Amino acid sequence: MLTYNELIDLRNKLVTGEIGLELAKEINWADFKEGKRSWHTKDWNERRDQFIKDKCEICNSKEILTIQHRSHPRKYTDYATDFAREFTKEYINTNPEIDKCEFSDYVQNNYTYVPIPLCPNCNSRKPNDRIRKLPRFLCTKCRHEFDNTVHKTAAELISLFFENEDLFEVRDKCFVSNDKWGNRHNLSNIRYWMQRVTAKKSNIDTIEKEAFLLYINDNIKYLSFEDSITACKKCASYYDLYNMDLCPKCKVYFKDVQYPTCIQCLPEEKRKLALEKIEFGNQIRSIERELGIE
Ligand SMILES: [Zn+2]
Ligand SMILES: [Zn+2]
Ligand SMILES: [Zn+2]
Repeated sequence: MLTYNELIDLRNKLVTGEIGLELAKEINWADFKEGKRSWHTKDWNERRDQFIKDKCEICNSKEILTIQHRSHPRKYTDYATDFAREFTKEYINTNPEIDKCEFSDYVQNNYTYVPIPLCPNCNSRKPNDRIRKLPRFLCTKCRHEFDNTVHKTAAELISLFFENEDLFEVRDKCFVSNDKWGNRHNLSNIRYWMQRVTAKKSNIDTIEKEAFLLYINDNIKYLSFEDSITACKKCASYYDLYNMDLCPKCKVYFKDVQYPTCIQCLPEEKRKLALEKIEFGNQIRSIERELGIE
């Protein structure tokens, strides 16, 4: 685990180009162990001792003080996924046209086509499949009876899609992806994923570098205590577990962080409403319990 100053040094070297991305990653994750966190290092403890105040910044208690972080860095791969999505959007805006041959190849290589059955007489969709009667199919539109359905080929569908992608025939999700997910896509979905693959490929260096820098910056911010306060154990756990902090007005009750005060400190009218709402919720829950539909 790198110290605060080592991390800043690493970031600067990467930004100025003194070291490349691969080396930077190697240095950062050299003795990185999942689960081993920054507070185990000597550097962290020393800077923590400098940062920590002598009382809780929420309730003024002096008992068992800890550092309370208000934000935490995410995993590197989460930043990378965000960038890939962003680059795809940009790529689609600047390259809205796709090549038909390339698209056909992509569909063929990555999907299995499951055609929609049609009536051979009037091309109407999904004729009745009769289990006990022959001929097996009946078209409910033209009343034609027949043994075998017909269908459009994938190539025909793709041609129609290139002529007019709003046609109802090309909107069916009749392509199943060959990967482990087996997703059902229509041609417009497939186009998005093809563009996303291209966008990611052509920007992979930028995506990885930007994502890594963001990841390092958030770690630096975390280690700098910029987004942290000193909190007693009680206040820290209310915040972590219930997203609650102490009401600044009465300094007695805890409240949801999104509200300015606790219920007791609301003006008379609003407090009544809030308490009624809680009472109503309790009644509903007890009725549900009685009915066993909780
Ligand atoms: Zn406290
Ligand atoms: Zn028909
Ligand atoms: Zn209050």
